[in-house]
Amino acid sequence: MKSFVALFTVFFCSFVFADDCSTTIESSDTMRYNKSTIEVPSSCSTFTVTLQNTGTLPKNIMGHNWVLSKESDAKAVVKDGASQGLANDYVAPGDKRVIANTKVTGAKESASVTFDVSQLSKDEDYLYFCSFPGHMSMLNGKLKLI
Ligand code: ZN
Repeated sequence: MKSFVALFTVFFCSFVFADDCSTTIESSDTMRYNKSTIEVPSSCSTFTVTLQNTGTLPKNIMGHNWVLSKESDAKAVVKDGASQGLANDYVAPGDKRVIANTKVTGAKESASVTFDVSQLSKDEDYLYFCSFPGHMSMLNGKLKLI
């Protein structure tokens, strides 16, 4: 009976918290994410993104982060972040257009960010990208609330 309960608990938890409200995305030395879209279920209250940098280069040369904004804000977010340097993860402190961002990662590092799903709208297009100068055109993808 005990093992049944334990099994049920594991099953129940994995069912409720299935990886629906979180995802892992990889970035590489060739400036690619391994996902071109991320779907966020509207049933989640928060959503967690973990970025795994599978590259071999240090963050000051080939650093990658994961930044989320409205698609229409993305270029301005990158532009304003560029001058902030690695110390600020190439994101302007307090930039309200940034919905979520991880720190910049280097070789074999990972970083996570959790954000409130209530900030997202099904009517809006969202873009995630690396804000390291020059990387956004290669490292980007669409995020949708579903
Ligand atoms: Zn990058």
